[in-house]
Amino acid sequence: PVTLKIILIGSSGVGKSSFMNRYVNHRFTNMYRATVGTDFLSKTLQIDEDTVNLQLWDTAGTERFQSLGTPLYRGAHCCMLVFDVTSTASFSALEQWRKEFLIQGEPEDPQHFPFIVLGNKTDLSNREVSVSKALRWSEEMGAEYFEGSAKEDLDVEKPFLRAAQCGLQQ
Ligand code: GDP
Ligand code: MG
Repeated sequence: PVTLKIILIGSSGVGKSSFMNRYVNHRFTNMYRATVGTDFLSKTLQIDEDTVNLQLWDTAGTERFQSLGTPLYRGAHCCMLVFDVTSTASFSALEQWRKEFLIQGEPEDPQHFPFIVLGNKTDLSNREVSVSKALRWSEEMGAEYFEGSAKEDLDVEKPFLRAAQCGLQQ
């Protein structure tokens, strides 16, 4: 099987750990639980004739720019830029997260490195970032846009499937 390293970055509290946990373990908890240590969740999936082992990495509770960076970002096959659709600040921060990833992760071909933008918490009514705004920025960055809710289990599979496909194409 092919192992693909997918990294989820974005501001603290946007739901990176929750989204991964929903996808891999089909669970959600409201308890805020800062991820401690560097760890990843694995999921095996079949894409056509390829058996893919996805390694999903969270930023381990150190969501500050220039944090763990280097060792964590290196060797990633796809980077998911995660924000909370009810937080403009978390959306605006993606620009910086993306730069940080390109500097610290040192991808071989930064121009064509696959980024996926992921808006979480679509179950909430106090939305601040519109779909069109998120789409526009993603397009500018050459990234695909997805959104969903870890809490309500809405559209959780698609972004990971796409991440796996992007990773395979590298
Ligand atoms: P991280 O810091 O990005 O890893 O964020 P967490 O996964 O720890 O989630 C931060 C908080 O947001 C927790 O209290 C979660 O329960 C909550 N949360 C995560 N995903 C969702 C969601 O889809 N909808 C709602 N309403 N809350 C969520
Ligand atoms: Mg986390």
